[in-house]
Amino acid sequence: IPINIVPTGEKDEQFIGSVILLRNITPFRELDLAKTNFIATVSHELKTPIASIKMGLQLLHNETTGKLNQEQENLLQSIGEDSDRLLRITGELLNMSQVETGNIQLNIRQCNAHEMISYAVDATHIAAESKHLHVRIDMQEHLPLIKADPEKVAWVLTNFLSNAIRYSPEQGDIIVGITLKKEKICFSVQDHGKGIDNRYQQRIFERYFQVPGSNRTGTGLGLAISKEFIEAQGGEIGLESKPGMGSTFYFYLPL
Ligand code: ADP
Repeated sequence: IPINIVPTGEKDEQFIGSVILLRNITPFRELDLAKTNFIATVSHELKTPIASIKMGLQLLHNETTGKLNQEQENLLQSIGEDSDRLLRITGELLNMSQVETGNIQLNIRQCNAHEMISYAVDATHIAAESKHLHVRIDMQEHLPLIKADPEKVAWVLTNFLSNAIRYSPEQGDIIVGITLKKEKICFSVQDHGKGIDNRYQQRIFERYFQVPGSNRTGTGLGLAISKEFIEAQGGEIGLESKPGMGSTFYFYLPL
């Protein structure tokens, strides 16, 4: 409850008292919660029809309905990209509503780092191919299993990778790496894109923040959700970036 204390003075500036204003913000909180729940419901409901659109597209791609000409292929490709974007945005809104209601449900189990990376690379390979990017995985062979929520870790890696793809020049290189550091495992995604100016690096994990002048097709929520997901698992998230040289986004998780 916000408290405003207002000292009042007479003409001769003598202090005669204070006014304390208490405002009950419960209705605003309730309204905010209703909004968050509404966003969660709508995003959830949107996922099914978008998934059907994607399935229909896949059938058309498989030429079940006859051979397609180049123009039709191009059209299908762009519908496919738009439905991927819609799916990403609805996923982010859904995750954000979980974060806002303090409702992050973790499903911690023993998991394999390589599988989570493969999931993220597969989920983004069409976008990477359409920009002719080279995505390389750099990791040692025998890594220990880690205790984490594999879906949340894969979600963060997918978010890092799709950002790296969006902000890389055509034919650029992206390196997905895993290293062991003492009792921790470090996942990283390095790109050679335009990088992020120093003054924005602190703000990049804030909700809705987008670097001014950048490609603003997203929601500005992906990195904020990533931070919440990693910290909820006892991890740490960060970035190193040099404008003009590229960025490395990373997170550590305890083994
Ligand atoms: P979104 O990508 O949906 O805008 P994010 O939270 O994932 O939201 O990213 C926030 C902002 O950080 C982006 O809008 C962009 O300005 C900047 N950003 C993220 N990743 C990169 C990257 N690899 N290279 C350059 N800028 C990036």
